[in-house]
Amino acid sequence: MALPSPARFCPRCAAPLAPDASGRPACGIDGCGYTWYPDPKVAVGVLAERDGQLLLVRRNHEPAFGRWAFPSGYVDAGEVLEDAARREVLEETGVTVRLDRLLGAYSEPGSPVVFIAYAGTITDGDPAPGDEALEVGMFAPDALPPFPFPHDAAVLAAWSAGAAR
Ligand SMILES: [Zn+2]
Repeated sequence: MALPSPARFCPRCAAPLAPDASGRPACGIDGCGYTWYPDPKVAVGVLAERDGQLLLVRRNHEPAFGRWAFPSGYVDAGEVLEDAARREVLEETGVTVRLDRLLGAYSEPGSPVVFIAYAGTITDGDPAPGDEALEVGMFAPDALPPFPFPHDAAVLAAWSAGAAR
């Protein structure tokens, strides 16, 4: 599925980009050969537990402004996935987590985002909102707020399946 190009001009020679035979934005200048390929964006999230409750953040940015969600964010290029997951939890909630297991990898047609979810345990700190959270809270698994994103139900199901063992 083709995604829209963020640029209208060739980054190599500045000629206008136009769809090629496969619909990808491409440069028509002989000898240039530039074609725009959308890179996936990798995001990570953590279902972090302490005393049987899950750590959630209320988002202060779009998408899903004001909604409760588990801590998540984009991986920096060159950053190890697990480091990114721990970093996002620390930035958004002020706590340190140990990652216990991989829950799964999730993607959708037409979306550039590949989302990788972990189960973790809070090992240090008291939850407090960071720059990307309106508030943070601990929720019992049977009293969770409705989650905003399409993959959230599958992530939660994977967490529940492991937690029941
Ligand atoms: Zn070009």
